[in-house]
Amino acid sequence: MRKMTATIVSGGDAFGTHRALAPKGALPQPADRLDNDFSRLFAGEMLVSVETLNVDAASFRQMEEAGGDVGARVLATVAERGKQHNRVTGSGGMLLGRVVQLADGRPAGEKIAVGDRVASLISLSLTPLRIEEVRAIRPASAQLDVVGEAVLFASSPYAKMPDDFPDRVALAALDVAGAAPQVARLVKPNSVVVILGGGGKSGVLCAAEARRTGGPGATVIAVESHEPYAREAEALGVCSAVISADARDPVATRNAVLAKTGGREADLVLSCVNVDGAELSAILCARDRGVVYFFAMSTSFTRAALGAEGVGKDVDLMIGNGYAHGHAEHTLDLLRSNAKLRALFEKRYG
Ligand code: NAP
Repeated sequence: MRKMTATIVSGGDAFGTHRALAPKGALPQPADRLDNDFSRLFAGEMLVSVETLNVDAASFRQMEEAGGDVGARVLATVAERGKQHNRVTGSGGMLLGRVVQLADGRPAGEKIAVGDRVASLISLSLTPLRIEEVRAIRPASAQLDVVGEAVLFASSPYAKMPDDFPDRVALAALDVAGAAPQVARLVKPNSVVVILGGGGKSGVLCAAEARRTGGPGATVIAVESHEPYAREAEALGVCSAVISADARDPVATRNAVLAKTGGREADLVLSCVNVDGAELSAILCARDRGVVYFFAMSTSFTRAALGAEGVGKDVDLMIGNGYAHGHAEHTLDLLRSNAKLRALFEKRYG
């Protein structure tokens, strides 16, 4: 689609504030609207020809439930905001594309060249984007094939696409690459770990990582409402139990979990659902001074904070950071190390 090389202009900064149109000078994530005029690039920018968007699961589900065509909704959002930043969920996703141009001022020592294929490891909610056309929508993986362009800033993490995974599989895994490394940091041998939405994409990665880090003595419980995903999580062989239940029902979820742990509350609870309203279940399953890790973008800070106070739970509430050092390689290595997990990803997202 691109016929001309973009002109390089001065005035850019590493964080992308130069692309914020409203309000001017804001960081691009909280900005309402971004400049997606790519006829010129600012110093430090990488121009990418976009092939696929992996929309955040909470955002994709919200658009489906709102009715109409998801592709049309994405086109409208990008036309209005210059980025795929869902106004309801506040979340974005990430993209796969090919490097078209690199402006001067990129980080020193960077090993990237025009023509390389990359996945962005920052949210679409802060990535300047233009879309000409939506070519295909794959609801099972929340991916859209598009014709478009995007800009990554000098501060934007990205991964070169691995050559030992199909693109769609790698993209699916990289979308939730922040999850498993945090589990590896938080789980101890013999921990009790509960994963809400444990049959979903990030959920099965967390379950596999909890077993890998926690060892055979760990108790890993998945709670999943989508029956086929519950059965697939069970077949992975990493969970001590998979409970088919609605994680928006706190007391029922707690009772079902305690029935599987012999009454022991969890050291770590991960919320990996794609819906809102699961905060209290996560909190009620955790032990005194345990950790509740909210990976789900559908989490409400207010519901979590006031909910924990309301039930007198002294637990550490952690926000799921999408970034951890080495998270892309960590997650791809987890898939490489577990043949069943990799096969599940290839079946679902390939
Ligand atoms: P996913 O593959 O859609 O998995 C979510 C799972 O939760 C699905 O299996 C879903 O079932 C299940 N679920 C939905 N409602 C439930 C309920 N009431 N009780 C129990 N299970 C329920 O999503 P994902 O890609 O793993 O993403 C999970 C969450 O992480 C999303 O909220 C997403 O926005 C967020 N996320 C966070 C980051 C970050 O950096 N923190 C990055 C990427 C994604 P169905 O199949 O029926 O929907």
